[in-house]
Amino acid sequence: MEEKKTVCKCPYCDADIEFIEDMSPFCQPCSITIITCESCGGKAREGTENCPECGKPLK
Ligand SMILES: [Zn+2]
Ligand SMILES: [Zn+2]
Repeated sequence: MEEKKTVCKCPYCDADIEFIEDMSPFCQPCSITIITCESCGGKAREGTENCPECGKPLK
């Protein structure tokens, strides 16, 4: 099976992160997992309670 890879930017260090779809991207330089806000698509580090973009709670 072919892995679907997607690239996003780390909001903290601007590194390109290549990750497999359905998995959370992990930034190696920051050692953090990036989560996506379901409301606005904004990026935040795992453990953040509210989206820095729209202020809604992240799960
Ligand atoms: Zn980073
Ligand atoms: Zn948001």
